[in-house]
Amino acid sequence: MKTVSDYFGSLVFDDRAMKDYLSPEVYKSLKKTIDQGAVLDSSMANAVASSMKEWALSKGATHYTHWFQPLTGVTAEKHDSFITPSPDGGVLMEFSGKELIKGEPDASSFPSGGLRATFEARGYTAWDPTSYAFIKGKTLCIPTAFCSYTGESLDKKTPLLRSMEALNKQALRILKLFGNTKTKHVTSSVGSEQEYFLITKEMYDCRPDLIYTGRTLFGAKPPKGQEMNDHYFGAIKPKVAAFMDDLDEELWKLGILAKTEHNEVAPAQHELAPIYTTTNIAVDNNQLTMEIMKQVASRHGLVCLLHEKPFEGINGSGKHNNWSISTDTGINLLSPGETPDENAQFLLFLCAVIKAVDDYQDLLRISVASAGNDHRLGAHEAPPAVISMFLGDELDAVLEAIEKDKPYAGTEKSIMKLGVDVLPKFSRDTTDRNRTSPFAFTGNKFEFRMLGSADSVACCNIMLNASVAESLKIYADRLENSKDFETDLHNMIRKTIKDHRKIIFNGNGYDDAWIKEATEMRGLLNLRTTADALPHYTDKKNVDMLTSHGIFTEAEIKSRRDSLLENYCNTLIIEVNTMLRMTKRNILPAIETFSADLANSINLKKSANAKLKCKYEQDTLNILSDYTDKIYDLTADLESALSKLSVLTDDVIKESAYIRDEILSIMAELRKVVDSSEEITAKKYWPYPSYADILFSVK
Ligand code: ADP
Ligand code: MG
Repeated sequence: MKTVSDYFGSLVFDDRAMKDYLSPEVYKSLKKTIDQGAVLDSSMANAVASSMKEWALSKGATHYTHWFQPLTGVTAEKHDSFITPSPDGGVLMEFSGKELIKGEPDASSFPSGGLRATFEARGYTAWDPTSYAFIKGKTLCIPTAFCSYTGESLDKKTPLLRSMEALNKQALRILKLFGNTKTKHVTSSVGSEQEYFLITKEMYDCRPDLIYTGRTLFGAKPPKGQEMNDHYFGAIKPKVAAFMDDLDEELWKLGILAKTEHNEVAPAQHELAPIYTTTNIAVDNNQLTMEIMKQVASRHGLVCLLHEKPFEGINGSGKHNNWSISTDTGINLLSPGETPDENAQFLLFLCAVIKAVDDYQDLLRISVASAGNDHRLGAHEAPPAVISMFLGDELDAVLEAIEKDKPYAGTEKSIMKLGVDVLPKFSRDTTDRNRTSPFAFTGNKFEFRMLGSADSVACCNIMLNASVAESLKIYADRLENSKDFETDLHNMIRKTIKDHRKIIFNGNGYDDAWIKEATEMRGLLNLRTTADALPHYTDKKNVDMLTSHGIFTEAEIKSRRDSLLENYCNTLIIEVNTMLRMTKRNILPAIETFSADLANSINLKKSANAKLKCKYEQDTLNILSDYTDKIYDLTADLESALSKLSVLTDDVIKESAYIRDEILSIMAELRKVVDSSEEITAKKYWPYPSYADILFSVK
């Protein structure tokens, strides 16, 4: 029998494959490119391409593609085959260094937020050698960045790599100040937990709302939802277990470290967590994981739903971004240390994160903003739209002692002064978990919990890396010129705690009282919807910070803001159109048929016996008739609101605000009446499977 270690990573051109297929000279040169960003010259590139092709052919590949992550949507690829005609009439399998390094997909319809319209119609893809090439089906996939001809990034990978570099640069400056000269590179690492729903293909095919929008736009609550909590970590059903086994195998072949699989809170909801890795690879791996989940599900007659809120009234799906920073010498900079010096350094990095999260609350919120995620944030199942941080009681007490110059319970020393007194040893408090905090310290990493299940993890890590780089830069600028390092360090940490204490909250984030306190007393931002959040992308402080670290140009920021807002508007317009179609073509006619049968039944019964009351029939008929009138009026309201949208299309900020203010409430109202109708319409008349049918469809 084949064991996991036999096939783990077998479809990845990883370090082992490189060693096997490349000459020692080419291998060394490629490693230098990967580790230090050195330019690969064209003869080397040809040699790498040729070996990569040999390797791919040996795995049965016939095509190659530049695989990239456009601004919206999951991933994109355009397949070219290796074949080239040979002089004797046959074919040769060819792949050159040029084809490896640069591609030109005819990608003019990818969202660019207006960038390419003003410069060049086409963009190009450029090989990212820091992420391994892999094989999917019969195609060699080459991870690439996607840029316009003038160099503006049109994807999520380019700014991510830039943000990792910014963080590296500033962190190295700080480490040097602490006397660390051995570290050559600092990287952020990410482990992303992924939630999803599995339903049967049979049910999925009966729901146009799932097909067109990824979520159910109608559906009365089932008699049993997640109230009993019997699904969470419960026994996994055989069909789901078979899916998970298959999924693990596919992911392992791709070198993805899928580690835990379990049931989640809602019926039909599950979670997968990989072992953490370098952010860049973690992002690629998460994109691939989502893709493979869908493919494997379909092999099992299932559909994997990655929408953030497929079912109303039932928990939605999120993603947790576990994030830490570490050195190439293996030190986790967010791990409390053993010596006073190490702890002072730890506290400085901790403060850098606290300051970053407070100063750039809006950017973090923006990084998880989408129409789908708006249904979760603040809905008492996911963190609120207000960003705050959880540190745990012990660390909080340490910070308070520093801020107030007062004794800390864990030490005998009277006053804590960094670097002089022995800081207490912090225990890794992983039991004290606050599940309701958007941004929680969990012992040696931070867990950002606001991501929607379909989000790319690139976006939040771009913001995290960039904003922490900014804090570190401010610290390094000050400390590099310091005459008294220890005192200045102490004062700076104290000032950060004082200035940014407002972002730290250890209580229940799902509590309404917290939102009031956060916004009214602490002045934290509450950007409830995507339409509220995105206009802040271009606020001066955000543009200044992001451009100063070279993460984005101002034009790139504006284009991203616009393309995300366009995506928000388009998503909701598709939802409205789907609602209208379902209502007019199926739901109203179904209620009508049932009502006619009720009316006929009343007539028949009364003609048999005029004294019969026919209470059920008459009452139901009356209520349904009232409902159909309301539904009809609401569809007219929606249509008229949609028609007003067309004049706003050149101003996407206005358009999204109009949708938020005028359209969302009509959609909610329409849904309410339709769901009430579903509850009293005989099942055989209702045109769509019910929530109960769908949620309990997988046996
Ligand atoms: P939870 O209780 O939230 O499920 P786990 O301890 O199981 O948390 O870890 C969740 C994720 O965090 C996993 O993907 C794991 O690999 C990742 N993780 C663990 N340590 C780190 C770290 N130092 N940096 C980044 N991610 C980490
Ligand atoms: Mg978690």
